Amino acid sequence: MTRQRALILDIMQNDPGHLTADEIFAEARRRMPSIARGTVYRNLKLMEQDHEIARLEMPSGPDRFDKTAVPHGHLYCDGCHSLRDVPVVGLVRELEAAIGTEVRSYQLTVHYLCPECRRAMEKTLN
Ligand SMILES: [Zn+2]
Ligand SMILES: [Zn+2]
Repeated sequence: MTRQRALILDIMQNDPGHLTADEIFAEARRRMPSIARGTVYRNLKLMEQDHEIARLEMPSGPDRFDKTAVPHGHLYCDGCHSLRDVPVVGLVRELEAAIGTEVRSYQLTVHYLCPECRRAMEKTLN
Protein backbone atom coordinates (compact mmCIF):
# COMPACT_ATOMS: atom_id res chain seq x y z
CA MET A 1 0.00 0.00 0.00
CA THR A 2 1.35 3.44 -0.89
CA ARG A 3 1.66 6.25 1.63
CA GLN A 4 -1.03 8.16 -0.24
CA ARG A 5 -3.48 5.29 -0.11
CA ALA A 6 -2.83 4.77 3.61
CA LEU A 7 -3.47 8.48 4.20
CA ILE A 8 -6.77 8.43 2.31
CA LEU A 9 -7.92 5.37 4.23
CA ASP A 10 -6.94 7.02 7.52
CA ILE A 11 -8.91 10.18 6.63
CA MET A 12 -11.99 8.13 5.83
CA GLN A 13 -11.76 5.94 8.91
CA ASN A 14 -11.44 8.93 11.20
CA ASP A 15 -14.48 10.71 9.79
CA PRO A 16 -17.93 9.73 11.06
CA GLY A 17 -19.67 10.70 7.82
CA HIS A 18 -19.45 10.04 4.12
CA LEU A 19 -16.99 12.39 2.46
CA THR A 20 -16.91 13.61 -1.13
CA ALA A 21 -13.71 13.23 -3.17
CA ASP A 22 -13.10 16.98 -2.80
CA GLU A 23 -13.44 16.81 0.98
CA ILE A 24 -11.01 13.88 1.11
CA PHE A 25 -8.58 15.78 -1.13
CA ALA A 26 -8.78 18.92 1.05
CA GLU A 27 -7.95 16.95 4.20
CA ALA A 28 -5.24 14.93 2.40
CA ARG A 29 -3.55 18.12 1.20
CA ARG A 30 -3.69 19.57 4.70
CA ARG A 31 -1.77 16.54 5.98
CA MET A 32 0.43 15.90 2.91
CA PRO A 33 0.82 19.24 1.04
CA SER A 34 2.56 17.59 -1.93
CA ILE A 35 -0.35 15.27 -2.77
CA ALA A 36 -2.07 15.92 -6.12
CA ARG A 37 -5.81 15.90 -6.73
CA GLY A 38 -5.37 13.24 -9.44
CA THR A 39 -3.58 10.96 -6.97
CA VAL A 40 -6.48 11.13 -4.53
CA TYR A 41 -9.07 10.51 -7.25
CA ARG A 42 -7.05 7.62 -8.75
CA ASN A 43 -6.62 5.97 -5.35
CA LEU A 44 -10.32 6.31 -4.54
CA LYS A 45 -11.12 4.54 -7.82
CA LEU A 46 -8.63 1.72 -7.05
CA MET A 47 -9.91 1.31 -3.50
CA GLU A 48 -13.45 1.13 -4.85
CA GLN A 49 -12.39 -1.55 -7.36
CA ASP A 50 -10.73 -3.53 -4.55
CA HIS A 51 -13.99 -3.34 -2.51
CA GLU A 52 -12.13 -1.59 0.25
CA ILE A 53 -14.52 1.37 0.13
CA ALA A 54 -17.80 2.07 -1.67
CA ARG A 55 -18.93 4.95 -3.88
CA LEU A 56 -22.40 6.29 -3.15
CA GLU A 57 -24.42 8.09 -5.79
CA MET A 58 -26.36 10.92 -4.22
CA PRO A 59 -29.83 12.21 -5.14
CA SER A 60 -28.19 15.61 -5.49
CA GLY A 61 -24.60 16.78 -5.42
CA PRO A 62 -21.36 14.87 -5.91
CA ASP A 63 -20.83 11.17 -5.09
CA ARG A 64 -19.74 10.36 -1.57
CA PHE A 65 -17.47 7.62 -0.32
CA ASP A 66 -18.18 5.01 2.32
CA LYS A 67 -15.29 3.75 4.44
CA THR A 68 -16.64 0.22 4.21
CA ALA A 69 -17.91 -1.93 1.36
CA VAL A 70 -19.90 -4.06 3.83
CA PRO A 71 -23.53 -3.51 2.79
CA HIS A 72 -25.73 -1.28 4.95
CA GLY A 73 -28.55 1.17 4.36
CA HIS A 74 -28.47 4.95 4.43
CA LEU A 75 -30.74 7.67 5.73
CA TYR A 76 -30.64 10.74 3.50
CA CYS A 77 -32.02 14.03 4.82
CA ASP A 78 -33.88 15.98 2.14
CA GLY A 79 -33.33 19.15 4.18
CA CYS A 80 -29.60 19.33 4.91
CA HIS A 81 -28.42 16.46 2.63
CA SER A 82 -26.75 14.68 5.56
CA LEU A 83 -26.19 10.95 5.19
CA ARG A 84 -26.29 8.47 8.05
CA ASP A 85 -25.80 4.73 8.22
CA VAL A 86 -28.75 2.60 9.20
CA PRO A 87 -28.72 -1.17 9.84
CA VAL A 88 -31.16 -3.03 7.59
CA VAL A 89 -30.33 -6.65 8.38
CA GLY A 90 -33.90 -7.40 9.50
CA LEU A 91 -35.30 -5.83 6.33
CA VAL A 92 -32.98 -7.86 4.11
CA ARG A 93 -33.94 -11.09 5.96
CA GLU A 94 -37.61 -10.30 5.39
CA LEU A 95 -36.94 -9.74 1.70
CA GLU A 96 -35.07 -13.01 1.44
CA ALA A 97 -37.98 -14.82 3.05
CA ALA A 98 -40.36 -13.15 0.60
CA ILE A 99 -38.34 -13.93 -2.53
CA GLY A 100 -37.14 -17.32 -1.28
CA THR A 101 -33.48 -16.74 -2.11
CA GLU A 102 -30.43 -14.90 -0.93
CA VAL A 103 -29.99 -11.16 -1.53
CA ARG A 104 -26.55 -10.80 -3.14
CA SER A 105 -26.16 -7.04 -2.87
CA TYR A 106 -28.28 -3.96 -2.44
CA GLN A 107 -28.22 -0.18 -2.36
CA LEU A 108 -30.80 1.32 -0.07
CA THR A 109 -31.24 5.03 0.57
CA VAL A 110 -34.19 6.08 2.70
CA HIS A 111 -35.23 9.74 2.39
CA TYR A 112 -36.28 11.49 5.57
CA LEU A 113 -35.98 14.72 7.51
CA CYS A 114 -33.37 14.46 10.25
CA PRO A 115 -34.39 15.56 13.78
CA GLU A 116 -32.71 18.96 13.36
CA CYS A 117 -34.45 19.70 10.05
CA ARG A 118 -37.79 18.44 11.40
CA ARG A 119 -37.51 20.79 14.36
CA ALA A 120 -36.61 23.69 12.08
CA MET A 121 -39.60 22.93 9.85
CA GLU A 122 -42.01 22.67 12.81
CA LYS A 123 -40.83 26.08 13.98
CA THR A 124 -41.58 27.56 10.54
CA LEU A 125 -45.07 26.04 10.51
CA ASN A 126 -46.03 27.33 13.97
ZN1 LIG B 1 -31.36 17.46 7.97
ZN1 LIG C 1 -22.49 4.30 4.90
